[in-house]
Order: sequence, then C-alpha cells, then structure tokens
Amino acid sequence: MPKGLSYTDTGLDRAALLRRKDAWTAKRLRDPDTRILPVWRNRNLIRPGDTPKAASLKGKTAQKFLRIASDVALLGVNGKVVYFAADASDCEPEELKSVSRRAEFIDLRQVGPVMEPREAAILAYARAMMYWHRNHRYCGVCGSPTENRQGGHVRVCTGADCERPHFPRTDPAVIMLVTRLGKGGEACLLARQAAWPEGMYSTLAGFVEPGERLEEAVVREVLEESGVSVADVEYRNSQPWPFPASLMVGFRASATSRRIKFDKEELEDARWFTRDEIGNFEKLGFRLPRSDSIARWLVDTWLAEE
Ligand SMILES: [Zn+2]
Repeated sequence: MPKGLSYTDTGLDRAALLRRKDAWTAKRLRDPDTRILPVWRNRNLIRPGDTPKAASLKGKTAQKFLRIASDVALLGVNGKVVYFAADASDCEPEELKSVSRRAEFIDLRQVGPVMEPREAAILAYARAMMYWHRNHRYCGVCGSPTENRQGGHVRVCTGADCERPHFPRTDPAVIMLVTRLGKGGEACLLARQAAWPEGMYSTLAGFVEPGERLEEAVVREVLEESGVSVADVEYRNSQPWPFPASLMVGFRASATSRRIKFDKEELEDARWFTRDEIGNFEKLGFRLPRSDSIARWLVDTWLAEE
C-alpha cells in the first residue's frame, strides 16, 4: 500500500480554546521550554544532513528571535511543550546568523520528502501560517493595517470604523486521477507542463472557482485541460500543500471519452498510460510526480489496486 500523505498529521493539539486567551499565549511565549520554529521568506530553519531536522529555538535564543520577528502564531501543544511559528522575513540574512547557528533557512520543498514525516508536517503548518500573516498585513476592505490576535489565528483590522477580523486562508484545489478501461487494460491520464522537470508527468489539477462544487471543478478542469469528459467523480484524500497556500482535494474520475485534446497554453503534453507503462516509467524516459505529493499518492494507490 502507498504510505500516508506528507504534510498531514502534525501530532499537535492546536489548542483552539487556549489560544483565544492573550494571557495564556503571552505566558507561553516567555516560557523557557517553549519551542519557536523560525520562518524567513517562506523558508524554515532546518539542520541539513541525510535526514534534515527541524531546528527549534528555546530559552534565550528563542527570546532573541522573537524580538526580531514581525509575526508569531501558536502551532499547538505536544504534551507539555508548546510550539509557535515566528517570522523574521523583514530581517536581512546577517541579522539571523546569531540565532540560526548550524541550521539554515531552507525551502521545505527541497527537503520535505526525506524528513521525518511529523517534523515535515509541523514545518509545513508553520510556513503556511507565516505566509498568510505576511500577505494579510492590510485589510482588504478598508486598507488599514491589521493586527495579530488570538495567538496568531486572526488578524483584526485597526481601522476605527472597520475592525473586520480576517482568518487564515487556504485555497482549495482539486487534483484527480482520471482512468479508463481500454484494450490494454486500465489506463490513467497524466499530463506535463513545459516548466516541469524533463519527462515528469502528473495528474491534472486546478483551483476551485466560486460558486462551484468540488466535483464540478473536477469535471470542468479535466475537460478544459485535456478535452476528456469524466463521470463518477469520487473523493479519495486531501493534503495541505503550503507551496504557498493550497488544500489539495484528491479525486478519482472515470473517463467517458477517450480522445485527448489538451490545452496548449497550460500543458505541453497529455497521454493515457497503462499500469505496465507506469511500471516501466523510468525506462521509457518518464518520471512520476514528487514522492511527497498527493498526485503521486493517487497514482501509487491506483497501481496498487491491480
Ligand atoms: Zn478594515
């Protein structure tokens, strides 16, 4: 069976009731045992190595980082240890050297697949929260600055006549493995974009639009991108994808037409592949999507059904 999905299951209690209490949050931030997970310009603080590790700060180093951080958000509690993410994107690299020590600010996309899954999930959560904070410094209604509240899980507009609360956002996207039964057995539809690594083919995907059910988005995206009609759209799994701010909602769908006529603006190619072909994918000069993606999980799950 395919393994679990990356970037899910942080193992943290998000402490949604406690984080509403400012006094509790302030006390936890001063606690020398509290762990701070630093983020800088969408990169997490990581100790490189064969199995890269999340670098968390505590004690005096944590306090030092909090003084230069522009935003902080509670991630959650594990046993007695409280975890926060903090963002210092406004700092220049030299200002970070005294806190980062042997660790480096690294893009999680580069190391996520080889990290311990729970650590990768916590870093993904930290990165997603800090991305939201940095991109919601101003109110979308009146343009006034917003303020971090409730342990970093709300930003409230400071405009006197506005005071609108803004909540962390994640953009839903559908991602789907389309299959059909042909003469050579079952086949699945994979496609590639010109910008992807050479030979890589993946499932189709696209953002959900306002006024649309997830299943409708699947049917529309497959038709727009590949010209293939689908039915029997079935939910399979979902994955937070913090690159930068999506929730990938994974589906299977059955093709009701075979001919591919792909959208040349979005795709470089789209093809049907049988299980045998995917079994020999690299020999044929192709490669599957990255191992930490739900795209790969959808393909692996389908292969395991044989
Ligand atoms: Zn406002």
